[in-house]
Amino acid sequence: MTLNNTPLKTRFAPSPTGYLHLGHVLSAYTAWAWAKANNAQFILRIEDIDTTRCKDIYTDAIMRDLEWLGLDWQGEVIKQSERFELYKGAITTLQNKGLVYPCFTTRKEISNHPHTIGGDGIIYPGIWRNASQQQIDAQMAVNTPYCQRLKTDSAYSACQTHSFIDSAQGTIIVDASICGDVVICRKDVPTSYHISVCLDDNAQGITHIIRGKDLFEQTHIHRILQGNLGYSAPLYTHHDLITDDRGKKFSKSDKSLTIKDLRECGHSPEDVLRMVGVYT
Ligand code: GLU
Repeated sequence: MTLNNTPLKTRFAPSPTGYLHLGHVLSAYTAWAWAKANNAQFILRIEDIDTTRCKDIYTDAIMRDLEWLGLDWQGEVIKQSERFELYKGAITTLQNKGLVYPCFTTRKEISNHPHTIGGDGIIYPGIWRNASQQQIDAQMAVNTPYCQRLKTDSAYSACQTHSFIDSAQGTIIVDASICGDVVICRKDVPTSYHISVCLDDNAQGITHIIRGKDLFEQTHIHRILQGNLGYSAPLYTHHDLITDDRGKKFSKSDKSLTIKDLRECGHSPEDVLRMVGVYT
């Protein structure tokens, strides 16, 4: 099937900072099942820009676990750690539009500064937003590490369209204020989650992004970046998250719920799919 003559394509894009867990399985299965039902392609992309926390053993294990679950993907598996040059190009585009500024603040300084909390934690309180060239030069001269942040409100104003489509909620109007000035280029690596994910979804022709509700607020910033980088807008599904008996979302820190452990305890693929509520 196609969308405006583009073949339908979705993806599962885990970060290999640990073994596959039940939360991942729900995301992977939801995207895979959608692809099967719509005669679309399902691809696997490894989001390993954090070269300290991401490990090849986890990438290998994730692939083995997906195969064991029967969630087969098509085509080549892209690793983001091999694409830093491409991401640099996108950051340069935003810099040339005057939408980026350096930020020398540490995490601690940010949390000590008056701030508000958004869906993804602290909203950066704009400490370096209006710094003078002199202040910037002084930090550069002593090699203070810095990241680059997006002037989110200016980037929003520079976009032609200000909405995205969510399969459950319909048209969502982008709200720049919930994101703040997000990191576009990290201190440690020459990209960020936001840049890499937007560039790759566009480069790989992803028409449908299917991921958990925990990333719903990020979609607002992604839409702003897509608008400024000349990328078309995919359609979005933000699926419910699995929670434990206390209503807390499962995460990588729930070590006992890795697929590796469940396999070693003798569970079958059907058992695991039943645990995430997609197999009866
Ligand atoms: N790599 C992200 C994660 O593991 C997912 C990114 C996405 O689906 O857009 O949380």
